[in-house]
Amino acid sequence: MYKDELVGRAYHHLRVSSIAVVINATVLLAVLYENVNSKHLILWYVLVFLVSVLRNFSSKLYKKNKNKFSVKKWEQIFYLGLFVSTALLGVFPLLFFVPDDYQLQAMVIVVIAGLSAGGISSLSSLLYAAWLFIVFLLSPLIVQLFLQDTQIHNTMAFLISLYLILLMYTVRQFNKQYFDILDSRKMYEDEKEKLLRSEERFEKVFKQAPLGIMIYDKNLIIREVNQEFVDFLEAPHYYLIGLDLNTLPDQSVLPSIKAALDDIEGFYEGEYRTKYKQKDLWISMSTSPLKDSSNNVIGGIGIISNITQRMLTQLEFEYQASHDHLTDIPNRTTLLERIEYEIIRFKRHGIICGIMFLDLDHFKNINDSLGHAAGDEILIQTAKRFKNIIRAEDTVARIGGDEFVILLPDLANNENQSATNAEYIAQKVHNALREPFEIKGYKLNISSSIGITLINEKDKNADDLLKHADIAMYQAKKAGRNTTRFYKDKMDEWVKRRLGIENGLRNAISNGELEIHYQPIIEISSSNFVGAEALLRWSSKEFGNVSPEEFIPIAEESGLILSIGSWVLQNSVQQFAEWQKMFPHIKTFKKIAVNISVHQFEDTGFFRQVDTIIQESGIQADNLELELVESIIVKDMEKVRDKMQMLRDLGVRISIDDFGTGYSSLSYLKKLPFSTLKIDKSFIHDIQYDIDDKELISTILTIAKNFNLEVVAEGVETYEQYLFLNEKMCDYIQGYYCSKPIDTKSFTELFVSTNGVCQVVLNQ
Ligand code: C2E
Ligand code: MG
Ligand code: MG
Repeated sequence: MYKDELVGRAYHHLRVSSIAVVINATVLLAVLYENVNSKHLILWYVLVFLVSVLRNFSSKLYKKNKNKFSVKKWEQIFYLGLFVSTALLGVFPLLFFVPDDYQLQAMVIVVIAGLSAGGISSLSSLLYAAWLFIVFLLSPLIVQLFLQDTQIHNTMAFLISLYLILLMYTVRQFNKQYFDILDSRKMYEDEKEKLLRSEERFEKVFKQAPLGIMIYDKNLIIREVNQEFVDFLEAPHYYLIGLDLNTLPDQSVLPSIKAALDDIEGFYEGEYRTKYKQKDLWISMSTSPLKDSSNNVIGGIGIISNITQRMLTQLEFEYQASHDHLTDIPNRTTLLERIEYEIIRFKRHGIICGIMFLDLDHFKNINDSLGHAAGDEILIQTAKRFKNIIRAEDTVARIGGDEFVILLPDLANNENQSATNAEYIAQKVHNALREPFEIKGYKLNISSSIGITLINEKDKNADDLLKHADIAMYQAKKAGRNTTRFYKDKMDEWVKRRLGIENGLRNAISNGELEIHYQPIIEISSSNFVGAEALLRWSSKEFGNVSPEEFIPIAEESGLILSIGSWVLQNSVQQFAEWQKMFPHIKTFKKIAVNISVHQFEDTGFFRQVDTIIQESGIQADNLELELVESIIVKDMEKVRDKMQMLRDLGVRISIDDFGTGYSSLSYLKKLPFSTLKIDKSFIHDIQYDIDDKELISTILTIAKNFNLEVVAEGVETYEQYLFLNEKMCDYIQGYYCSKPIDTKSFTELFVSTNGVCQVVLNQ
């Protein structure tokens, strides 16, 4: 592993060792010259000298041009030199041993032993070289001493043998130590290299990191910052270096900066207002302690990233998630959160809040007739109007189609005052909608039904409150729209009843709970029953007799009206066909009027259904009159007209029921192919008291004549009413005055007993 190093060290010592060899050889030459074969000795000396010079030369060459040969080659050269040189030195005792001269023998032993000892340190880097040197040097001497057959020589030979072993052992230890030194030096170098590299890297990170980095000392003075930090704070370098962090205008970051000085990692994420540019930033900062070599905290490093963009995106995202896209006001999620908060405040401080549930009246009609874009525009404008009238602490949210909720916190401390305040705000909301909306060149009048609930101890959660406000709103709708209702506990029962009715209705047909009653329609001039209106009756096992005023709207909302309506149509037409067969002589009885709900009329299969029922029953198409209410007209007029025309083409008659209660414009009378107009019973009811109603009825009658429409007055109960209508040339009447709606059997009996003539009218 350290070959280069080891060989280098061997060559490093070579110079001194070769000089030592020459000196020793010279000493031997001088001392033994007289006593041995001088020629041989000189030859030996010359050889030793030459080899030493060559070895010395090789050492110089190595130093000078180490790269001339490979390490291996250098090693081989070294070994060769060593081998030759050692062999020359080693053979000396064999060649030049003076048998009887102990002094000279001692001299040789000292020189050889000295040389071998010297080799330990100079050759310790190459263990095998050292061993070779020792063995080659000492073995011939040992052999020579053994050969001198004296005890002293043999003892010396033995001792030198021990000495040889000791030297070999020692050199091995030296070698080991030397390797240890090399190992630790290498480790040191590696560590140094690593440190250097990490410093370099740190420098690089510090300078080029896409993060702001500052280094501060124990007194919270900034010592170093990188460029990113400078750019980030938009403050100049000179301003930052030496800045006392204690004096930061925004102290929110200080705790995490100080944490590092307590040997803790600090963290801060949030807004930060910079002094230099007076700019709001969002930052994320982590700090860690800075320590010296003895692990003492000497300051801190703060790494700061600018998360403004991320935060802005996040805030935008949160805004989107909490707001309604169309109207840009809070959505249901936000509303529920705020209500929950108000519930907590109420429980703690008794502060009453109100929930105002608003639903735009007839919004669906606008959507259907003018398109969704117009509907959206109304919602946007509505939200704006609401925002203008509410207080800063109120929340107006859109929670679905045309449903808005206004949360009114802090109404008052007592219920009465709270209710008064809420009522006042509701009035403001109604007023805000009073001004017509201008959409697509139309001026549209929009009103809203408002339900209000005030928080009380029983309210457990936001859903409860919202549900109550919704129930109250429903009551407002029922009460005729454009009005406000407060939630009362009783309403809960009403909701339960409503659900019960819906469930009951589901099985009403199969349970045989439905029955149709018939009310005669009388021609005033002849007193004849000219027809009958089919009116549905439900006698529920659970709820008893339920008025159609109550269950029909529920059937409509739940979609059950489709099956129920078709059952009524089918059965009433069938019944009429039977009566025609039963009373063929009564030719004047030629109309069965059936109420048709908007849902049925809109259903795609409706036309075919009517056609089939007529075919199957065998009645004339014009025996059937479908009663539609005005609200149907607010729908897409073209579509409605086309559908009505198809029915009219089939021969079916169509009447407009409850005329005068809904739509204010009469222009549709011109456009839609009605055959009959039924004046709503509320007008008839007020005839005797209200001059205006009398006027109105006269006008309706005139208009109807103009459009060639037959007119039926509904709900005629009294003689006076009859008289007035007769006077005004109204064609037909229907009401308790002649007969209440009655079941099939009673109707048949009435028919038989009166021969199809209304006795009351006849007798006038
Ligand atoms: P409508 O079509 O206007 O029916 C006339 C309502 O006036 C009936 O109420 C009838 O009983 C009542 N009436 C008749 N003469 C008088 C009177 O002299 N005085 C007073 N005060 N009321 C009179 P009813 O049967 O309770 O039905 C209420 C409404 O329920 C109906 O109003 C109709 O809109 C709806 N309806 C009834 N049956 C059906 C049905 O089979 N299908 C659909 N879609 N709606 C139905
Ligand atoms: Mg009707
Ligand atoms: Mg009616």
